[in-house]
Amino acid sequence: MAKPADTRTAGRKAAAKPTRSAAETEKIRAALAARRDELRAEYDQTLSEITELQRDRLTDSAGDDQADTGTKTFEREQEISLANSILERITQVERALERLDEGGYGWCERCGNPIPVERIAAFPSATLCVTCKQLEERR
Ligand SMILES: [Zn+2]
Repeated sequence: MAKPADTRTAGRKAAAKPTRSAAETEKIRAALAARRDELRAEYDQTLSEITELQRDRLTDSAGDDQADTGTKTFEREQEISLANSILERITQVERALERLDEGGYGWCERCGNPIPVERIAAFPSATLCVTCKQLEERR
């Protein structure tokens, strides 16, 4: 029969952070950086759409009836809130990159297991592994 694990060793093991290989860290960094670039492009595009809507409003609002002006204002507000949410996601990814440099990113906050690279690439703000996330959602 296996004896219970040496508590001293077990304690030390639990305290030590699991390590990720440099190659894996690089993969995560690349995934996060690619995501950030994507989001920035999306953000730029949204900004130019806002500018365009604004220009439209200035140039041909004279001929618009009130409903048209209302629609354009609404569109512009939607674009602005979209831009803000993209900006928030960019901030999240940048924070993740900073934490990655400090060695504090990519570990599940609940069980401490490494979060798979694919999951981080898909959800750069993920702080839980899939298993813990599913447990969380079930509650
Ligand atoms: Zn977990």
